Formats: sequence, structure tokens, C-alpha cells
Amino acid sequence: VLPVVALVGRPNVGKSTLFNRLTRTRDALVADYPGLTRDRKYGQAQLNGQHYIVIDTGGIEGQEQGIDKVMAEQSLAAIEEADVVMFMVDARVGVSVGDQVIADHLRRLEKPVFLVANKTDGVDSVVASSDFYSLGLGEVYAIAAAHGRGVNQLLEKALKPL
Ligand code: GDP
Ligand code: MG
Repeated sequence: VLPVVALVGRPNVGKSTLFNRLTRTRDALVADYPGLTRDRKYGQAQLNGQHYIVIDTGGIEGQEQGIDKVMAEQSLAAIEEADVVMFMVDARVGVSVGDQVIADHLRRLEKPVFLVANKTDGVDSVVASSDFYSLGLGEVYAIAAAHGRGVNQLLEKALKPL
């Protein structure tokens, strides 16, 4: 059984861009995988010969009232299925209320969550990341999914224990 990495976060943070980079597809390959629904996209990826499954999700708005509405069902399902969760945020936007609500949910999980600040191309990654420590999820991993910056280092760290 392959390890499963779920990509979650608000819309427009770059989840699909990272998915496509990891799976090397422009349009996600839909893997034969139990629990498949129309709402989540599954792809196969590998790093240094280690194969894994990536789940792309449609995103969580995060401004609604209450966790049930905030966490779209497909994102909750992806989180359930995952061995490791990549919580993506937009380094150019900074911390939003939606990010805080999602973080509140993810902090209660018993599985590893990596806080990923995307779109750090052309900005100082230390400055861009610093804001997100307030989300209380530990280390902030700066990447630029569109260009590949930081992506392999992140995945190496995430996959190592799996
Ligand atoms: P999703 O809604 O979370 O799946 O986000 P998308 O992957 O569709 O990306 C939303 C927008 O952010 C698109 O216009 C992407 O081109 C842009 N984007 C994604 N990753 C990066 C990045 O690393 N740097 C920059 N500058 N833009 C990015
Ligand atoms: Mg998307």
C-alpha cells in the first residue's frame, strides 16, 4: 500500500499546481484507488524511487460559520485518507481567517501536518514564512510550486517516515 499525501488549503493557494508538479501531469491522472470520488483527484508520484499517492482537493473557503461548513467534505475525506497532510497557504496573502480556521482543525489531528507557504518566488522566503508561525503548526516550509523551489526538500522530509 502506497503512502498518501493530501493537499489541503483555501482555494487559489496553489494546490493543483503542486499536484501537477508532483504527478507530472497537466491534468491529473485519476488513479484506481478505493474511495475515489469526483471531488478529489488522485495521482501517482515518486521521489527518489519512493512511490506515493497525492490527493488534490477543491479547497476549503474557511470564512463560513463552524467547522462542518468550513471543511468541505472532500477535504475532510482527503485528510482522513492521508498519511501526511500538506496544508498550503499563500505567502503573498499572509495569514487569513480561513487559514486560522483550517489550522484549528488540523492541530487536533494525530497525523503529521506540514505547513507549506507557497508562492515564495520573488519574495524573501524567511520574511514570507514568518507570518505563518502564528498558526501554531510548527515549521513553515517555503516553496514555489509553479517553479519547483523547495518542493523536493519538503517531500523528502514528509515521506521519510512513511
Ligand atoms: P488551487 O486553487 O489551490 O488549486 O490553486 P492553483 O494551483 O489553481 O493556483 C492558483 C493560482 O496561483 C494560479 O494562477 C497559479 O498559477 C498560481 N500559483 C500557483 N503556485 C504558484 C507559485 O509558486 N508562484 C506563483 N507566483 N504563483 C503560483
Ligand atoms: Mg485546484
